[in-house]
Amino acid sequence: MEDKKEKIKKIKNDSKNKLISDEKLIKEGYITIIAGPCAIESWEQLDAGARVIKDLGLSYMRGGAYKPRTSPYSFQGLKEEGLKYLKEINAKYGLKTVTEVTDTENVEIIAESVDVLQIGTRNMSNFALLEKIGRVAGEKNKKVILKRGWAASIKEWLLAVEYITHIADVEVVLCERGIRTFETSTRFTLDLSAVPVIKKLSKLPIIIDPSHAVGQSDLVIPMSRAAIAVGADGLLVEAHISPDKALCDGQQSLNAKELMELVRQLKNIAGVIGKKIR
Ligand code: PEP
Ligand code: MN
Repeated sequence: MEDKKEKIKKIKNDSKNKLISDEKLIKEGYITIIAGPCAIESWEQLDAGARVIKDLGLSYMRGGAYKPRTSPYSFQGLKEEGLKYLKEINAKYGLKTVTEVTDTENVEIIAESVDVLQIGTRNMSNFALLEKIGRVAGEKNKKVILKRGWAASIKEWLLAVEYITHIADVEVVLCERGIRTFETSTRFTLDLSAVPVIKKLSKLPIIIDPSHAVGQSDLVIPMSRAAIAVGADGLLVEAHISPDKALCDGQQSLNAKELMELVRQLKNIAGVIGKKIR
C-alpha cells in the first residue's frame, strides 16, 4: 500500500518536473529572481524560506546541497539529503529549484532532483564537468547557470559556455558574481559592465549574483537595482530565514524582510523598463 502511494507521488512529481523543465529559465520581458540560502541546512530552514519566496510571487529557489568551501573544515552541505529537500520543495510549492554541481560524479543525481544546474566560479574552467553537465542537461532537459570564474575574462567565460553547448542544445544562463581585484572593501568586485558586453557579443541571457560579489547584505539591494537597470535578465540572491544563524554566507544573506524590500524596489525599476518580476 505504502509502495503504491510512493509510486503515485513519484509519477506526480516526475510529470510536474517535466512540465517545469519545458519552460525557459529566462523569459523575454521578465526579470527572474532566484532566491534562497547559500546552503541547505535543514528541512525546516528550506521550507520556511520557500514559503517567503512563494508568497513574494517568485518562481525559483536556490539552495546548495554540495558546498565547494574554501576551507575543508567549513560545512560541506547536506548532499543527498539536501537534494531530497529540494525535490520536496518543488512538490509542495511548485517552485523550480537551482543547485550547484561540484563534481562529475553527482551530475546525474542532481539532475534528477532539480530544474537548474549551477556551475560555480571555482568550476568555470573544469571542462570535463562542463561537458558532462552539457550531456546530462541535454538528456534530461535541464537548464544551466554558468558563473564567471573570479579570474576569468569575458572571452574565456564565453568559450566555457561552448564546452556545455557543443554537446547538446541546452539553455545556458551566464551569471556574473564578481571578479577578484585589488579592492578589499567588498568581497569581490561586481563587474556590471559584463552585462552590456555580453549583450553585445552574444545572445546569451545574463543574471547577476550581487551576494557573492559584495559579501555584505546591506550592499545587495543597491547593486541589485543597478543590475536590473543595466539590463541583466535576473538575479541570483542569497536569502536566509535567520542570517545570523546561517552555516554559510550569513553576512551576505538577506532576511525575509529585506528580500521583500528587494522585490518591492525591483518591481518599480522593472516597471520603468517595461519588464515584470517573476
Ligand atoms: C553559490 O552560489 O552558492 C556559490 C558558491 O557561488 P560562487 O560559485 O559564485 O562562489
Ligand atoms: Mn554562498
